Amino acid sequence: MAAVGWIGLGNMGGPMAANLVKAGHTVRGYDVVPAAVEAAAAAGVEPAGSVAEAVAGADVVFTMLPKGEHSRAVYLGEDGIFAAASTDTLIVESSTIDIETAQLLHDTAAGAGFRFVDAPVSGGISGAAAATLTFMVGGEPGAVQEAAGYIEPMAGNVIATGGPTTGEAAKICNNLMLFINMAGTAEGAVLADRLGLDRKVFWDIASVSSGDSWALRTWYPLPDVVPTAAANNDFAPTFTAELANKDITLALQAAEGTGTPLRVGAQVQELLQQLLDAGQGGRDCTMIVQLVDGRLEVTDQA
Ligand code: NAD
Repeated sequence: MAAVGWIGLGNMGGPMAANLVKAGHTVRGYDVVPAAVEAAAAAGVEPAGSVAEAVAGADVVFTMLPKGEHSRAVYLGEDGIFAAASTDTLIVESSTIDIETAQLLHDTAAGAGFRFVDAPVSGGISGAAAATLTFMVGGEPGAVQEAAGYIEPMAGNVIATGGPTTGEAAKICNNLMLFINMAGTAEGAVLADRLGLDRKVFWDIASVSSGDSWALRTWYPLPDVVPTAAANNDFAPTFTAELANKDITLALQAAEGTGTPLRVGAQVQELLQQLLDAGQGGRDCTMIVQLVDGRLEVTDQA
C-alpha cells in the first residue's frame, strides 16, 4: 500500500482522500482550513500541518484546490510541492484550473524532474463520496498509466486524454456544454409551463426526445420533477453558481487563446454572472431559471 500526500480537503478532496484510506493507503492531508483537516481525520486521514509535511515521503501527491491561483501557490510557493517533495513522488493535479496554469505546472515539473499529470474530475460531490468520479488524465503516457493505478479507488472511469493539459481541456469543454444545456433546459422548462403543459408530462417527453440531456435528467430546474434537482430544495447548492461561473469562464479564456467564437457560452456566462451580482453565487447554478421566469430581474443582457 502507498503513502499518499493530499492537499485540499474540501467538498471534493475530503471524500476522495477518505476513499484512498478505505482502499488501504496511508493518506496524509493538509488544508488551510483546520476544520477541513479535522473532518478528514475523522475519516482516517493523518493530519499534516503544512504542504511540506503532507508530501514528505509520499509515493504520490494529489491536489484538489479551488482555482489556478491556489494551485500556483501550492505548487510554486517557497514551501510548495515542487520545493518540498522528492522527485521520486508522482504528482496528480485534480483541481479544475486554467490551461495556462496547467501548462506552467507541467513545464515546471518537467524542468525539476517530476512525473506530473493533470487529472480533473467530473461527477460532483456525490460521485466523490461514492467513488464513481470520471477522471480525465493528461500527461506523459508512463505517468498517466502510473497515476491511473492510484486513482482507481476513487473512480468510475479513468480516461487518458493525451498529452499535458488535455485533461483540463476535456473538463473545461465538457462543462461548457453542461452549462449551455442547463440554460437551454431552463428556458424550455419555463416556456412549457407557460404554454400549459404539465411539468412531469413535458419532462417525460423531452427525456426520451431530442431535448434530452444530463442537465434535464439530473438538474431539471423546476420543483417536483426529478428527485436530484436543487429546485426541490430552494436551490441549496449541488453545484454552486460561483463554481459554474468559474468553469465557463475557463472555457471563454481558452476560446480567446484559440480564436474560437463561443457566442452561446458567453451569454450563459453573463447569466451566471447575474446570479453572482444578485448575491446568489453560493446557491445552485440552476437558479438561472429565475432569470427566465422573472423571479430574478435580468439586468444587462444584450
Ligand atoms: P472546496 O472549496 O470545497 O475545496 C477546496 C479546498 O482547498 C478548501 O478546503 C480550501 O481551504 C483548500 N485550499 C485552498 N487553498 C489552499 C492552500 N493554499 N493550501 C491547502 N488547501 C487550500 O472546492 P471543491 O468543491 O472541493 O472543488 C475542488 C476542485 O474540484 C475545484 O477546482 C472544482 O472546480 C473541482 N470540482 C468540483 C466539483 C463539485 O461538484 N464541487 C465537481 C467537479 C470538480
